[in-house]
Amino acid sequence: IVTPHTAHISSVFEQITGRNPGETEFHQAVREVFDSLHLVLAKHPQYMEASVLERMCEPERQIIFRVPWVDDEGRARINRGFRVQFNSALGPYKGGLRFHPDVLLGTMKFLSFEQVFKNSLTGLPIGGAKGGSDFDPKGRSDGEIMRFCQSFMTEACRHLGDKVDIPAGDIGVGQREIGYLFGQYKRISNRFESGVITGKGITWGGSTLRPEATGYGTVYFTERMLANQGKSFDGQTVLVSGSGNVATYAIEKVHEMGGRVVGASDSSGAVHDPDGIDPDLLQEIKEVRRERISTYAEERPRAEFVAGQNVWTLAEKIAVDIALPCATQNEISEDDADTLLRGGLTAVAEGANMPTTPEAIRRFRDADVLFAPGKAANAGGVAVSALEMQQNATRDTWTHEHTDARLSEIMTTVHDECAATSEEYGVPGDYVAGANIAGFARVADAMIAQGV
Ligand code: GLU
Repeated sequence: IVTPHTAHISSVFEQITGRNPGETEFHQAVREVFDSLHLVLAKHPQYMEASVLERMCEPERQIIFRVPWVDDEGRARINRGFRVQFNSALGPYKGGLRFHPDVLLGTMKFLSFEQVFKNSLTGLPIGGAKGGSDFDPKGRSDGEIMRFCQSFMTEACRHLGDKVDIPAGDIGVGQREIGYLFGQYKRISNRFESGVITGKGITWGGSTLRPEATGYGTVYFTERMLANQGKSFDGQTVLVSGSGNVATYAIEKVHEMGGRVVGASDSSGAVHDPDGIDPDLLQEIKEVRRERISTYAEERPRAEFVAGQNVWTLAEKIAVDIALPCATQNEISEDDADTLLRGGLTAVAEGANMPTTPEAIRRFRDADVLFAPGKAANAGGVAVSALEMQQNATRDTWTHEHTDARLSEIMTTVHDECAATSEEYGVPGDYVAGANIAGFARVADAMIAQGV
């Protein structure tokens, strides 16, 4: 049925696709939010009158720059750097940096758009941004990584600041890269401005629990979602995709809660470990030795490596209860969803950003699977980043217990707000609508209050 609200949404969406041709991931992220908004516009016409949708979909600032660096053979290399400062209505721009060969402006726009809503959901005073480069860190030496990070920051630093824009890590950017980036910022600015970047080492302004935060937070969110239905992780068979920070700590937390994660993956393939994936070994192989995931299977008695397959294909042989996609965008296709559903899947929570395709989400919804979108389920990472900024601002360091308690509390609040909002708008249990509407309303109200 076409109403004035759905017509308005369609016309704004057309403007956005027309103005941003070819940016399919950005269109997908906008579409997903817009699909929830007719419920809001019907109740609150002021958003339509103030052109909030149009304003919210145009980034406040998009920075594109050349990143020259010298490889180990002495040859000059060029990559492209990005920082999309999408929305600062709730606070300074905040969001990670991704170094991956697939990075294009459209990737950055989808990620920073998502970040606006995610950051809003945390209830903490942070706006949304994202940045990165098409630089491929795979196979690069430590010296090359350092020189790349220094060059990236040499340009990026003029756009950053603890009250302006605060980056952090994402795919391809971990504590090592954050160290090189921060070191260069400090050298250029001659200021120990620790609040300019998050994910720092614990002895130089970092927060305990930042590496664990996204993975733990995703599991805390899922636990609340299951508890709402009288269920838990106990005895559940779980698949986790990926093998980075998010995946590793999600696996650790699922095991602590009594579930068993039997699969993980990287871009070369998946591993099946019927004894339960050992997160310490996985981390040692991926982060310390920087090897492929096949090594994991060689070092565990009953584990098997499946080359070139994603982790969801394991569900052809195993009945899976819960899926936690923690790798990258659009990694669960419609076919993958069907494979997962064969074993009686009950819940999916996104540890990565937009890992589930719209067709797969529809499949899960039709099968009454609990579905937690990334902007809610993986908000723990940026939330602990905001706690790191608080510690930097007050020159304080919190204990592990205190930080974990705050993370858990924030994830409960995010969960409860999504659940309550979905009820308020007549779609109980629809976490996608709950997250989109709650995230949107806080930003929209601030934008209206601050004028055009
Ligand atoms: N890259 C993470 C995310 O997608 C964390 C961002 C941050 O800590 O600023 O939310």
